[in-house]
Amino acid sequence: MTTAAAGPTEVDVAIIGAGMAGTTLATLLGNAGRKVALIDPHRVHHDEFRAEKIGADQMQLFQKLGLDKMVMPLVTSFTDVDVFRLGQFFAREKKWEYAFSYGRLINGLRDALPPQVPITIGKVAEVSTGPDRQRLVLADGAVIDARLLVVATGYSESVRRAIGVERIELSKAHSLSMGFDLAIARRDCAYGAVTSYGKRASDRVAYLTVFPIGDKMRANMFVYRTVAEQWTRDFRADPQKMLRELMPEIAARCGNFEVASPVEVRQVNLTTTQGHRRDGVVFIGDAFNTTCPTPGVGIGRVMVDVDQLHSVHIPRWLDTPGMAADKIGAFYDDPVKLASDKDGMRVSFYAKQITTETGLEWRVRRLRNNTARQLMIIGRKMRHLGQRREPRMA
Ligand SMILES: Cc1cc2nc3c(=O)[nH]c(=O)nc-3n(C[C@H](O)[C@H](O)[C@H](O)COP(=O)(O)OP(=O)(O)OC[C@H]3O[C@@H](n4cnc5c(N)ncnc54)[C@H](O)[C@@H]3O)c2cc1C
Repeated sequence: MTTAAAGPTEVDVAIIGAGMAGTTLATLLGNAGRKVALIDPHRVHHDEFRAEKIGADQMQLFQKLGLDKMVMPLVTSFTDVDVFRLGQFFAREKKWEYAFSYGRLINGLRDALPPQVPITIGKVAEVSTGPDRQRLVLADGAVIDARLLVVATGYSESVRRAIGVERIELSKAHSLSMGFDLAIARRDCAYGAVTSYGKRASDRVAYLTVFPIGDKMRANMFVYRTVAEQWTRDFRADPQKMLRELMPEIAARCGNFEVASPVEVRQVNLTTTQGHRRDGVVFIGDAFNTTCPTPGVGIGRVMVDVDQLHSVHIPRWLDTPGMAADKIGAFYDDPVKLASDKDGMRVSFYAKQITTETGLEWRVRRLRNNTARQLMIIGRKMRHLGQRREPRMA
């Protein structure tokens, strides 16, 4: 930790924000022998509702970076997700998923930081950036002097504003994410995990996913509504009643949707950043752009930023003189990052349109998708019937 009396701390890279992006990047750079300062106002990340589940492709990114050994003890792994579409059983997906409480995951990653990368607990009071050195002054007067500044402050605006970048809203109030615990214990739930998609465009429900975290069953529901709507108020007041009406086909096997915690509701805006091509500073993760939780691409996008910075760009930047905007621009122009950001935004818009749009084009698409799914359900039922009859025919 820095103190004002100790004089400036000189580092290669100063990272503001010890969330998913900042903590993992600090770990990788520290392990690579870089001198890193990681700054966050809180030692313990509070338990806020954020990502609670990732898939195998996102876990592969952690594996690629050698971080999976830190992540695996902090998650509940499961496979075999029962998927319901059109109110009927559709398929059992045999794919690995990994669930967690976000605060616990980030705190676990912080605890596993290499000893040479302690977290500096403090608020950034002043930031000055330039083509060679970056200077941070913390609220207690401590000074950190770095060659490169990484802003990884998530949704928070204060540091971004101090540097002078602007958040552009691409889709305001795009969706609502809701998280709550079910009363049923994991061992009593008939499903290992279950995902049930909305049935009608007018419901504005993308899907409900129920999955284990430790011994409990957790639910995330993604809807295209706003916090102020009566529907949202009603859901918060009596989630059990509304879930039983929306998804009766899975209710009984989920303990009739008895809910054991308050419903946490987060509104999500799709945003990107303008004015970020600057000397000395790079913006990553949600501090650069935000996508929708519905398609579950946020953590993947964050980890692509971390991977490309750690594996490709930061070594080049630190091994050559200066830290001017044109050098840093290579990160924003990186085809891997561009593709990841573009895809995250594309699927965020698509998931909403295919669920809610009522124009002819989208109604035709939904009809086509649902007809194909209905045929698959009928085909599976007929195969199942055939298998049951076979022994008697023999
Ligand atoms: C409700 C919800 C559900 C989601 N579900 C999913 C999902 O299922 N799958 C998925 O892949 N993604 C999901 N996401 C997205 C995912 O959670 C984010 O993309 C990811 O957590 C962003 O990580 P980050 O490191 O950029 O930001 P964060 O993890 O938010 O970290 C920001 C850090 O910056 C610190 N900070 C803030 N201000 C300052 C400051 N002034 N000075 C110093 N430090 C500061 C904070 O304390 C925090 O530690 C979801 C998001 C939400 C909101």
